[in-house]
Amino acid sequence: MATRVVIIGAGPAGITIAETLRRYDRDAAIAMVSSEPFAPYAPPAMVDYFVTGRDASLFWKGQDICERLEVDYHAGTRVNSLATESHRVMLADGSALDYDKLVIATGSGLYAPVAGHDLAGVYNFKSLSVARQLVDKVRAGGVHSAVIVGAGFIGVELALLLRDLDVAVTLVEMQDRLMPRMLEAETAGIVLEKVHERGVEVRFETRAEAFVGAPEVTGVQLGTGETLEADACIAATGVQPNIAWLEGSAVETKWGVIVDDCLRTNIPDVYAAGDVAETCDRMTGERYVHANFPNAVAQGRVVANNLMGHEQRYQGAESMNSLKHLGVEVIAVGAQSGQEQLRRRRDGVLRKVFLDDGRIVGFRLAGDIGCAGVYRSLMLRGVDVSPFRDRLLDARPGAVWLAGAAPV
Ligand SMILES: Cc1cc2nc3c(=O)[nH]c(=O)nc-3n(C[C@H](O)[C@H](O)[C@H](O)COP(=O)(O)OP(=O)(O)OC[C@H]3O[C@@H](n4cnc5c(N)ncnc54)[C@H](O)[C@@H]3O)c2cc1C
Repeated sequence: MATRVVIIGAGPAGITIAETLRRYDRDAAIAMVSSEPFAPYAPPAMVDYFVTGRDASLFWKGQDICERLEVDYHAGTRVNSLATESHRVMLADGSALDYDKLVIATGSGLYAPVAGHDLAGVYNFKSLSVARQLVDKVRAGGVHSAVIVGAGFIGVELALLLRDLDVAVTLVEMQDRLMPRMLEAETAGIVLEKVHERGVEVRFETRAEAFVGAPEVTGVQLGTGETLEADACIAATGVQPNIAWLEGSAVETKWGVIVDDCLRTNIPDVYAAGDVAETCDRMTGERYVHANFPNAVAQGRVVANNLMGHEQRYQGAESMNSLKHLGVEVIAVGAQSGQEQLRRRRDGVLRKVFLDDGRIVGFRLAGDIGCAGVYRSLMLRGVDVSPFRDRLLDARPGAVWLAGAAPV
């Protein structure tokens, strides 16, 4: 009998698993469940989709991917619980799916530490369903002003989108710079200039105490006592793994689902991949959730191989992100400080490379990200760059190789 594989979640991790599995196993009975009523989509393409109306990158595998892969796709269906002893998942509509192998790929949702986040009318930008409601309201003329709580990656991207849609935007951030988890002060300053040029108002070192209003949200109350009133109030306060539905199951979780090096959970035949899984950081070895697209896809491939019995170890998650809608290229990879810092700022280009014991542990590039691939390779290989450190910031990526590092 064909193996029954059930994948919960149709994000980048889930669809990569289905695609990879099908490529090598024509017979497996693959079912995939998504709480959202759409074909599998790529969240990083949401902003571009709303700006241009083009959906080719959003539905990155094609709207008919599940038919082509012969996947039994349950869209718009939430999984409520898991019974590992009977190999069964229970769906919100009262039905159930039995599996031989199960993959948890439920991604992440809004991390919501601010009081009142569940008031009617508080938006977020974590799923296409909610993002679409917000953009539809803007397009219908119902939103002239917005307050976004949280100036992380998603908060900044959303602020730029809303400015493109002609909404007056205030970003509230409790720390002293934009995207504090991703950027050190200097690179964050470059982003801030651009954000200001686009007309976004930013309040730093300002804590949002609560979303307020009744019965619907009307504003955000700040730690200063002031309340910012707006037509749209949006929480962009971070992300957390979607694991609430696993409560009562035997699957071990902490911040996310705990997995081993092959992305197996503590329960036989149950795997996890993507934003929901706590994996090893490739550089530091720490267990962590690096919620980004390349990690989700890479983990999806590893899980698919292991489902087929070809044991594959995951080499670890990477911390990296890039800003796409700023008008200036910015990329952040790895740590944002080190024992030593190499820095050059010239002709609108900033390059900062952080070293520990002569080895790259992270870098930030703005204005020209052409060297990112080279720096990343050197970093992942742990190459001692001391012999050519003086040439590391040279404009031409090839110059690094000429200086003596082996090609990757
Ligand atoms: C606006 C935005 C921009 C981003 N930009 C970038 C970027 O530029 N670069 C980058 O690397 N990363 C970016 N990311 C992060 C990236 O999108 C995620 O890391 C990636 O989507 C994770 O993939 P995933 O498959 O693990 O989870 P998700 O994409 O979160 O998908 C999980 C799926 O599971 C479904 N689900 C959840 N719970 C259940 C349930 N109980 N039952 C059934 N289905 C369920 C959800 O509906 C969802 O479809 C961005 C994210 C957002 C929101």
